[in-house]
Amino acid sequence: MDSIDEYKQWICQPRKLVIVTHHTPDADALGSSLALAQYLKKRHHQVTVISPSVYPAFLAWMDEGHEVMIYSPETHLACQNTLLEAEMVFMLDFSSYDRLQTLRPLIENLPTKRFVIDHHQNPEINADFWVWDTTACSTCELVYTLIEQLGDANSIDVPIGEYLYAGIVTDTSSFKKASTTRKAHIITASLMELGVCTNRVQRLIYDNFSEDRLHFIGHILKDKLHVLPEYHACYFVITAQELEDYHTQLGDTEGLVDYALSVKDTIIAGIFIEKGDCIKVSLRSAGDFAVNHIARQYFNGGGHLNSAAGSVKIPLDQAEKTFLQALAQHKEQLQNLVLC
Ligand code: 5GP
Ligand code: MN
Repeated sequence: MDSIDEYKQWICQPRKLVIVTHHTPDADALGSSLALAQYLKKRHHQVTVISPSVYPAFLAWMDEGHEVMIYSPETHLACQNTLLEAEMVFMLDFSSYDRLQTLRPLIENLPTKRFVIDHHQNPEINADFWVWDTTACSTCELVYTLIEQLGDANSIDVPIGEYLYAGIVTDTSSFKKASTTRKAHIITASLMELGVCTNRVQRLIYDNFSEDRLHFIGHILKDKLHVLPEYHACYFVITAQELEDYHTQLGDTEGLVDYALSVKDTIIAGIFIEKGDCIKVSLRSAGDFAVNHIARQYFNGGGHLNSAAGSVKIPLDQAEKTFLQALAQHKEQLQNLVLC
């Protein structure tokens, strides 16, 4: 029996369900989780969304009712009890346990059914049900398609549509990335027909910066851009002190790496951010140059062909050196890549 048919049979009676997404959720992680939760609630299930960590403030509009349980030492017991009672755990926008960080043991050791909905490469989770497609632009695209396949497209209302649009628009960088699918545009058109105001969502996400954030971006663009024409590479290195000096909040560095990629003729862009004893690394690329392999090989991470990330417990200058070594190893490929 096809996984979806089997799922249809299993889900036809009301169930206790939990939806989990990855650490520091982005708009696709949070949007797909909340959209699926709202849909499942409409189908009379009891649903809890658990996030392994807080989400950035610019996504707070998505969780106005504070329904997302944020995992922390204080909420450990409540999350554990909710998970133990669950009949199925949905895992959205990730497919390797390390993306759960400290929530990992609670989920990994659970004897409960699992349903993974994801668009990342190299899944590492054993699940009972799967919606996995690396060609999808976002997990929100997959949630929309799943609801459609279940014959429930008419349960998608404006709030669900806003969540889905938020994930699609951010994971495609406003329909700019090579991962932007035809379906992403078709879904968006359907959501607009439903009454979703795409301009409202865009403004909530992109026109919501604090003054501090704008000053911080100004400083990084003016003083911190490294350009390496011989590798078609650009990158930023940001210290913990700079994050503090500019009073940055969680999420304030998001999108910065795209500025590095926007420099003419750039094929690979990176950002290295000092956060406690870790360096958060984000990589972006143009064309066929795969940054997920670089993130996996050098920075304990992974992701998509053109967008990947990871983190390493080494000093900031060491992370930069590692990146330069990676560039040197791929020099020939970077020099010879022809962009269309
Ligand atoms: P970002 O640079 O926006 O944090 O992440 C870019 C992409 O890299 C994400 O969409 C996700 O696919 C992937 N990613 C981010 N962090 C990690 C990580 O810690 N491990 C893995 N495997 N992938 C990550
Ligand atoms: Mn995603």
